[in-house]
Amino acid sequence: MRDPRFDVLFTPVAIGPVVAKNRFFQVPHCNGMGHAMPLAHAAMREVKAEGGWAVISTEECEIHPSGDLTPFVEARLWDDRDIPALALMADKVHAHGALAAIELTHNGPTASNLFSREVLIAPSHQPSKYGYPTQARAMDKADIRDYRRWHREAAVRAMRAGMDVVYVYAAHDLSLAMHFLQRRRNHRTDEYGGSLENRVRLLRELLEDTREAVGHRCGVALRFATEEMLGPEGVELAEARDIVAMLAELPDLWDVNVAAWYNDSVPSRFAGEGAQEPFVDFVKRTTSKPVVGVGRFTSPDTMVSQIRRGIVDFIGAARPSIADPFLPKKIEEGRVDDIRECIGCNVCVSGDNTMSPIRCTQNPSMGEEWRKGWHPERIAPKHREARVLVVGGGPAGLEAARALGQRGYEVNLAEARRELGGRVSREARLPWLAEWARVRDWRVGQIRKMPNVATYLDSPMTAQDVLDFGAEHVVIATGCHWRRDGYGRSNGLGITALDAAHLPVFTLDDLMDGRWPEGRVLVFDDDYGYYAGVAAEALRAKGLAVVLATPDDVVGAWGGYTLEYRHVRKRLAALDVETRVSVNLVEAHASGVVLEDVWTGRREALAVDAVLLVTARLPDDPLFVELQSREAECRDAGIGSVDRIGDAEAPGMIVHAVYAGHRYAQSLGTTPEGEVAFLRHFHHAPGQA
Ligand code: ADP
Ligand code: SF4
Repeated sequence: MRDPRFDVLFTPVAIGPVVAKNRFFQVPHCNGMGHAMPLAHAAMREVKAEGGWAVISTEECEIHPSGDLTPFVEARLWDDRDIPALALMADKVHAHGALAAIELTHNGPTASNLFSREVLIAPSHQPSKYGYPTQARAMDKADIRDYRRWHREAAVRAMRAGMDVVYVYAAHDLSLAMHFLQRRRNHRTDEYGGSLENRVRLLRELLEDTREAVGHRCGVALRFATEEMLGPEGVELAEARDIVAMLAELPDLWDVNVAAWYNDSVPSRFAGEGAQEPFVDFVKRTTSKPVVGVGRFTSPDTMVSQIRRGIVDFIGAARPSIADPFLPKKIEEGRVDDIRECIGCNVCVSGDNTMSPIRCTQNPSMGEEWRKGWHPERIAPKHREARVLVVGGGPAGLEAARALGQRGYEVNLAEARRELGGRVSREARLPWLAEWARVRDWRVGQIRKMPNVATYLDSPMTAQDVLDFGAEHVVIATGCHWRRDGYGRSNGLGITALDAAHLPVFTLDDLMDGRWPEGRVLVFDDDYGYYAGVAAEALRAKGLAVVLATPDDVVGAWGGYTLEYRHVRKRLAALDVETRVSVNLVEAHASGVVLEDVWTGRREALAVDAVLLVTARLPDDPLFVELQSREAECRDAGIGSVDRIGDAEAPGMIVHAVYAGHRYAQSLGTTPEGEVAFLRHFHHAPGQA
């Protein structure tokens, strides 16, 4: 059972009139499902309640059409008709003895109103935040009264939906309550602008309104950003200390963090566990009310230390609860080794930012709880005995072997190298990617406990080896490699004279295998993911001069979805990496390359000693292709199925490989029901069944 040193994590804490059963608090987090997919949303939250979190919150919840967040898909409480969708969640959360919380928000100038077509509102006239060609108008006194009424009405609706904790939201630069605090957004000269007292007035009123409306039944929480890293334009720590002192006892709970979202949910490349402590540690000293803070906490010892040292009362988590919804239960049951630790890749964040249901690299069931019936801890047992051979021990092969093992199959995992993990082990050795190895470590830890899974290292498999092995099912997870020919999105017909005879050509595989260029290196990024930035960092760490060039208009565009973008740009700048956008690599020669401006067609020579290509990858699939061509022999050898998964099928991110491995294991021995392999939400016309 649980280690007594973790006992403090399991003591109850009151939040106003309600009591949280322990210290694990799933803070609000977006998920790309929101109001559009209420059943999927409720099922995702339920799994966390089942996993032991004492409080489970929604994401941002819009309170009025004038704060419409389209195209982002968040929760919604515009009127009474939105209550049942949120009641679904509250009921599921209550079924496991947890409290349901809701984060009410009106995003003012950080909304879009693309759907509602209302005029945006803000403390003062100003452009909308996200580059839409619109402005928000300054709110007059009647608007402020309306806004307070909408917030009160939404709080009552939330209570009727069964919510136990109702948030006033003043964080992330995403809500009017915060916008009134910010000097850059609030230029008012009335009692809501100017002095700190005046800028805090609306937030104080919202807290008082919410308490009056629902405080007898619900805890009133305040989510508050203590620092925006923008200097005097934003909320600054010194002012935040005064604000906390002014409002200290007004909310029943302080949920404190750093703004904006990219400073809050920082990827592991740029911040480690508990990084927000210096920005929030003063809060508990200023209020007698409980405090929740976040910091991608996955270590129970760190959690205990946070509480013992008086930093927080609740361990707040979004990402750690996504990667492992059962984190609290595992600590409670003395199974700390089973915790599936978040790797800080922010693929979960990309769901919200691409308006698609949340996905997680570590937890392939995230977002699939309702539509596929997947569960992070349970899986259907095998239908009948069978022996499965998994070739390749990267994230796809490891997850397939683990989940097949959990289903009870006899699993044999063959890996060519002397270590497991495939790309995860290799990439984890690149700068700041060490946490990627958690994908391997958790799976290897689980597999070691399974007597029905055998692992063979140093075992490169040929087609004949596979035929001789005698497995009923074979799954090929042999990965991929980076292309050396420059083929990619921008060069469909090749790059003139790009071969080692003219200029040394490298790929990420070379770096991961310990082969390094010399001198000044061009990193050419036609991939737009995280790889080119990481390669540039790795080369700089070796003391090489680096130019990073891309045909795209921005550097590492995908990083915009994962909140990496700003951090990457700052780090590349700090490392003196020269960045060039909107240029294509069109030619190589002995002393360098020729770059072509994608808009003007103008060409320029760039003197470099080597080029590192990050353009595209090719599956390592010859084994699969050969087995396909020897179908009759496979049949004679008793092999019923040969499949390929992960990067060997189509190169992607680690999340795609893990998902592919899991899906393979889930579907083995089951008959697909039609072409659409998951449930969907449908709207019925009135009167329709
Ligand atoms: P994925 O992301 O799809 O899991 P990886 O590249 O991470 O792919 O992992 C593929 C793994 O397969 C690597 O560890 C590689 O060494 C291994 N591998 C490749 N070919 C063979 C083979 N013929 N036999 C055994 N292992 C192989
Ligand atoms: Fe953590 Fe990545 Fe999963 Fe998000 S997607 S919870 S960052 S492992």
